[in-house]
Amino acid sequence: MKQYLRQLPPVHELQKAEQFETIRTTYHMTKDRLTRFVQLEISDIRERILNDNLTEDFFSKGIEEVIFTNVKSNVSQWTKDRLTRVINGTGTVLHTNLGRARLSEKAVDHVADVARNYSNLEYQEVEGKRGSRHDIIEDLLKEVTGAEAAMVVNNNAAAVFLVLSGLAKNQEVIVSRGQLVEIGGSFRISSIMEESGAKLVEVGTTNKTHLTDYEHAINEDTSMIMKVHTSNFMTVGFTESVDTEDLVALKEQQDQLVFYEDLGSGSLYNFKEQGIGDEPVVKQVIDTGVDVISFSGDKLLGGPQAGIIAGKKEIIQKLKKHQLARVLRVDKMTLAALEQTLKTYLSGEEAREELPTLRDITRLPEEIREQAEKFADELLSLTSSYHVEIQESTSQIGGGTMPGVQLPTYIATVTHNVFSTHELASKLRACSPVIVTRLQDDQVCIDFRTIAENETRQLLEGFLQVE
Ligand SMILES: *Cc1c(COP(=O)(O)O)cnc(C)c1O
Repeated sequence: MKQYLRQLPPVHELQKAEQFETIRTTYHMTKDRLTRFVQLEISDIRERILNDNLTEDFFSKGIEEVIFTNVKSNVSQWTKDRLTRVINGTGTVLHTNLGRARLSEKAVDHVADVARNYSNLEYQEVEGKRGSRHDIIEDLLKEVTGAEAAMVVNNNAAAVFLVLSGLAKNQEVIVSRGQLVEIGGSFRISSIMEESGAKLVEVGTTNKTHLTDYEHAINEDTSMIMKVHTSNFMTVGFTESVDTEDLVALKEQQDQLVFYEDLGSGSLYNFKEQGIGDEPVVKQVIDTGVDVISFSGDKLLGGPQAGIIAGKKEIIQKLKKHQLARVLRVDKMTLAALEQTLKTYLSGEEAREELPTLRDITRLPEEIREQAEKFADELLSLTSSYHVEIQESTSQIGGGTMPGVQLPTYIATVTHNVFSTHELASKLRACSPVIVTRLQDDQVCIDFRTIAENETRQLLEGFLQVE
């Protein structure tokens, strides 16, 4: 094997090869970058020769040919989009790993327009003077939440941090032990509280907290009572927590005490009226007299990643002026997407049709079944490599939202004649667009709840590519 070492061509020779130029122009690469790919490939082959890791027929095509074939494949891989489209066949609407909420067409258009051009992000066009990005969509936020004032930060974790740091630094914040949640991806209320400089005072037990527990914890160092919406887990059975109304009444007996509710998802749509879950609508929470709330832009709202803080004017004013508001501020594209999303809510019933998140969550099982059956018929008419069955199942909302809710759905269970479940799932993930399926009872399943009508073709193509 070692005799091949001498055959490895020098880099400067490969740079002169026709293939070098072809790859360079095809993939729009600079000479330097492509040279590095070539060098890496040579050292990789050298390594493999030294380790006796290659067979004779590796070289049968000629070593230069081998190098360029590998370089081309590596370059092609490298030029692919990192952030890439996925067809979500899991049925989980707010899939944390798949980018949570999809934006509406209107939101996407507005983002593109604002991104492509200059905008009035911090400019008052009538007066011709400097403006604030915090004011741009505040009127819409006030309208949808019913709050006196509102602002937007990077995400809800940032909102929690700003509220705690801005209103309770070096002071005590009372939280029920039953609400000290950890949200997927290592966001812990207790850790965020520590970072913010607020002092956590835990009351009650994991399953029960009474109003008197809060009462007893209040002293002159208390600045806030915080309620955390336990969005990503359920405590069932022997449990008790204190209603927002009662906590608001308690804090009103004290001077200078702030009541803050971290709503997590924060829905603007009444899912409960549709028989889905038990999530309060943001406006109802504001109406109970809370001082400040926060919620995510890309959970049940169905908008961009953002954290919305809404509440009493005086409080929001203070938070807007805080140094951290600058640190945690959002980009114009976020504001553009959020603006259109909020306008869609204000237009009424259209929200359910236009916002993908609401549409997917409220989709009727019958409609999903039709889509699944159509897919199965088409797939089976195109190939005999698969066996497909349509079954009743349930989908989850995801994103740590409404954990107990099981939405009735239909899934297509697909088995391949040759490939195992894991092989099939992995081949589907290698498709473009990537296809992510649900693995259930050791089978590849597709829940059509999260598959848009116009994705069916690409889904079929993906399954045909696997063969
Ligand atoms: C999801 C969630 C957060 C964090 O929100 P992000 O938008 O993911 O930053 C905070 N608190 C609660 C209760 C949540 O459910």
